[in-house]
Amino acid sequence: MQKRTKHVDKRRWFIGIMACVLAVALLLPLLAYVVGPADAATQSEINKLKQNAANLDAQKKELSTKINTLSQDKEKAVEQKRALDEQNAILQSEIDNITTMIAEYARLIDEKQVELAEAERKEAVQYDMFCQRVRSMEESGIDSYAAVLFGAKDFSDLVDRVTFIQEVVEYDNNIMEMLAATRQKIADTKAELETDKQEQEAAKGKLQQKEAELEKQIQEATNLVKQMEAQSDSYQVALQQLAEEEDAISAQIDQKVAELEKQQAAARQAQSQSQSQNQSQGTTGSSSSGYLWPLGGYTSISSGFGGRTHPIAGVWRMHNGVDVPAPGGTPIRATKSGQVIVSAYGGSYGNYVSISHGGGSSSLYAHMSRRAVGAGQTVQQGQVIGYVGTTGSSTGNHLHFEIKVHGGRINPLSVF
Ligand SMILES: [Zn+2]
Repeated sequence: MQKRTKHVDKRRWFIGIMACVLAVALLLPLLAYVVGPADAATQSEINKLKQNAANLDAQKKELSTKINTLSQDKEKAVEQKRALDEQNAILQSEIDNITTMIAEYARLIDEKQVELAEAERKEAVQYDMFCQRVRSMEESGIDSYAAVLFGAKDFSDLVDRVTFIQEVVEYDNNIMEMLAATRQKIADTKAELETDKQEQEAAKGKLQQKEAELEKQIQEATNLVKQMEAQSDSYQVALQQLAEEEDAISAQIDQKVAELEKQQAAARQAQSQSQSQNQSQGTTGSSSSGYLWPLGGYTSISSGFGGRTHPIAGVWRMHNGVDVPAPGGTPIRATKSGQVIVSAYGGSYGNYVSISHGGGSSSLYAHMSRRAVGAGQTVQQGQVIGYVGTTGSSTGNHLHFEIKVHGGRINPLSVF
């Protein structure tokens, strides 16, 4: 009895040691797997990426509001396009962000896959060791658990043997259960990561859809800008052409004034040699300072003489005279006596008349509805030469009035 008990104690001692060794060898690394700190860094990384996504989303919403406001004003097409470009840049960051997140999830899933394989391997090893232990018991004379029980010499020995077998079985069960739990935990984590990854992939798909929509919006904004630039370009070309036309007319007037004065000087010289040299002054009888305001009763100026920013094209242009609004058909009178040197129609001036007053001075009247005098005709100061209109480059009834002295335009208001 004493001997047998000692024999059983010896076996129990052997099993106990083996259990301890196995526990240390198998359980500790497994526990480290389950609660290991390796994931902490990657989780904070993912949190950071999620924060990024939230920030980007807020920025994008702000821009959307701005874009909606801007799209109501076509003249702000350039600004609108800039905002859309900015929004596109944010969207690209969002896609980059989410791509990084997906890659991070993929990496974690791979890690879990490796851990899972390792857990399965350890389970297999544990099972293998269990089998080996059974074999080692067989080698030490015990065929099986049943043999252990049937080999009992008396009831007390049987109880010992049952307890021993229970302990062995319990130990094996515990180890196997723990290993299975670990494997399950890893599998669960992996499944969670896969779900997260799928969510991120779905979000990425939505972002890419938005990207396509935004691309379309940007294309529309670009077209609008191009259209506006083309309009502005053509407007500037037109303005340039009008300015050139006005310059050509001005040169033509200078030439005619010079020709006329030369003729008049020659005539005077032939007429009387005895008169003084002071003959280059006006031959029409009017004094050099006596200008008459061409529009009786209308003296307000809608646009003064000098440089101005064009109201439509937004470019700086020289304004060669003054604009005097008056009802269509209002008579326009010669500011001084003289000879009509031009009475014509031009794209810029519309119906216009220019009069040479002698002494290098001339005047010009533009945008008339109708001209009342012809080139070469002599006119008296105050004589009706035409009527107010809005012909040529004009947006309303007004007289455009210029005065030139020795080839240079002066501010007409300076002589009144
Ligand atoms: Zn004008």
